[in-house]
Amino acid sequence: MRVDEAASPQSIAECITFMKRRPEAVVWAGGTALMTIDDRPQSDRPLPVLDLHRVQELRSITGSDRYIELGACVTLQSILELPKRRSLGPLKQAILGIGNPPLRNMATIGGNIAARSRFMTCFPVMACMDAALETRDSSGTRWSGFQHIVAADGHPSFPESTLLTRIRIPTAFWDNYCVRPMGDDGYPDVDSFTFAAVARLEKNTIVELRVCAAGNVFIRNRDAELELVGKRLPLGHKETDNLLGSFQAAGEEAGISPHMARRFAHYVKTFFEYSPDDPQ
Ligand SMILES: Cc1cc2nc3c(=O)[nH]c(=O)nc-3n(C[C@H](O)[C@H](O)[C@H](O)COP(=O)(O)OP(=O)(O)OC[C@H]3O[C@@H](n4cnc5c(N)ncnc54)[C@H](O)[C@@H]3O)c2cc1C
Repeated sequence: MRVDEAASPQSIAECITFMKRRPEAVVWAGGTALMTIDDRPQSDRPLPVLDLHRVQELRSITGSDRYIELGACVTLQSILELPKRRSLGPLKQAILGIGNPPLRNMATIGGNIAARSRFMTCFPVMACMDAALETRDSSGTRWSGFQHIVAADGHPSFPESTLLTRIRIPTAFWDNYCVRPMGDDGYPDVDSFTFAAVARLEKNTIVELRVCAAGNVFIRNRDAELELVGKRLPLGHKETDNLLGSFQAAGEEAGISPHMARRFAHYVKTFFEYSPDDPQ
C-alpha cells in the first residue's frame, strides 16, 4: 500500500474530521492484520492513513454490573490481563488462540472486529455474547449489534469512512462455552473458521443458546438454536441427528464446503457432550 498522507490525531473528534476530508482513509490500529493480509480493496492510488495510536479515549476500559465497555484500541493482551470474570471467559479463550504475547500487545480488539476481508477470531464469540458496537462517522454516533456488520450474503460489511469506537459486552454469566478453530490450517488461511458456542443451563435444561462460526462468511442458524432451547442434556439420539442436519444445512447454505459444514455440525454436537471449559 502506498501512502500519500498520514494523520495521527489525539482525539476521536479529530479522527472524524480527517475521515470527512479523506473518506478513503485506511484506519491503522495495531497494524498486525493490515501488515499480513490484504484487508483493503486493491488500489493503484496512494491512500491516506489514519493512525489511532495517540487516541487515548480509544484505550479505555469501563464497566458496570451489567456490562464491560472496551475502547476499540484496547489490546488483546490487556483483555487477557483483566481480572478473572466468568462472563469474559469466551472472549479470553478466543484471544488465547491468537498469535503470542508480543503480537497481542500490538493487536487491538477493534482491528479484530472491523476487518473487512474476513471475520477474525473474536467476531463469532462477541456475536454469541450479544456484544454491541459503537461507531462514529461524520453523521454522528450509533450503537448496533454485530449482525449489523454482516452483509446479506454473510460476508463482512464494516462500513467505510466509519470509526469503531467502543464495544459493549454484557456481563451475564454463561454456564457452558466453547471457542475452537475449525479449519485444517489456521489464520490467515482462507478456509480457517472459528467456531463459538455459549449456553445457559438450568438443571441441565438449555435455557439460552447461541452457536455460530465465522471465517470468510458468518454462519448461524437461529431456528436450530431455538429448537434446542428447553431440551434437557444429554440429548437423545433423535435430537442429536436433527441438530446435525440443521447445523450442517446452515453451513451449506452459507456456502462453505460440505466437509466444513459437517465439521460445524459435529462441533455443535461435541459442545453438548463435554462440560464447560475452564473459565479464564
Ligand atoms: C503471526 C500472526 C498471527 C495472527 N493470528 C491471528 C488469529 O489467529 N486470529 C485473528 O483473528 N487474527 C490473527 N492475526 C491478525 C491480527 O493480529 C488480529 O486480527 C488483530 O486483532 C488485528 O488488530 P490490529 O489492531 O492489528 O488491526 P489493524 O491491522 O490495524 O486493522 C485491521 C482492520 O481493521 C480496521 N480497523 C482497525 N481499527 C479500526 C477502528 N477502530 N475503526 C474502524 N476500522 C478499524 C483497519 O482499517 C483494517 O481494515 C494474526 C496476525 C499475525 C501477524
